[in-house]
Amino acid sequence: MNISRRDLLKAAILTGATVIIGDEFTLLTNAAQASSTGPEVPLPHITAGGLIRPPGALPEKGFLAKCIGCGVCMNVCHVMKYDAVATVGARRAVPLQAYNTPYIKDMRDFPCGLCMECPKHCPTGALQKTEKENVTMGMALIDFSLCFGWNGDVCLSCSKACPLGAKVFDFYNGEWGNQPYINEYCVGCGLCVKHCPLGGSAIKVVTENQYVRIKDSYVSSFKGLLSMPSEERYNIVYSQNMPMIMERGRLIEREYR
Ligand code: SF4
Ligand code: SF4
Ligand code: SF4
Repeated sequence: MNISRRDLLKAAILTGATVIIGDEFTLLTNAAQASSTGPEVPLPHITAGGLIRPPGALPEKGFLAKCIGCGVCMNVCHVMKYDAVATVGARRAVPLQAYNTPYIKDMRDFPCGLCMECPKHCPTGALQKTEKENVTMGMALIDFSLCFGWNGDVCLSCSKACPLGAKVFDFYNGEWGNQPYINEYCVGCGLCVKHCPLGGSAIKVVTENQYVRIKDSYVSSFKGLLSMPSEERYNIVYSQNMPMIMERGRLIEREYR
């Protein structure tokens, strides 16, 4: 099949449809397939549905073995005035074992502030004391088709909000604005998600497992953008991305809920 460079960009921006099976994700389509449908909603093929655990959580299997669902971390987070932690309710498609365990519910409104108080109070060791730089809650991915920086503007809101700042953000400055890229020092706190001015955010935090699965196509999309001639980028930005960005402002869906 012949795929044009433009198709490749569209495909590479996206990464593959996902379906949630319990806490895991199974990729249903690859980037090339995504190009045939095109982006209809922001990050349509990166489903936020995995459970982002509070900072310091053991790897998922060990975490589930140790967490007793006491809710102490949630209460600590409330006292710290972040209210980032909620417990998994019966309506989520998760294994029974994950029911009533803590997760970061909605990073668009309530990201983790990395105060690192909850691990200190976890009674079972399901959350371990950790330096905030070593937290591995997830990985933040920028949707290049929506981010203002990648579409001819200068924004920088995400990088200013990030507690790890310069260590995490790389910039590619050029005639196309100030273009951010989030590297793997990201700890997945979600502060950038909250502070992105685009309606609902142009950033999504995915679980470590999900990131491993989509990393290759995501990175190749980034490289594709960097190598693209200005004229081609111009056409994509103004014929495709701008209408989508405008539409984004009107979307009310809350994917993290
Ligand atoms: S580190 Fe602080 S802000 Fe983050 S989940 Fe724990 S208590 Fe809440
Ligand atoms: S404080 Fe620890 S054991 Fe209690 S719900 Fe939170 S992670 Fe689980
Ligand atoms: S890039 Fe976003 S999710 Fe990652 S550490 Fe910075 S603010 Fe947190």
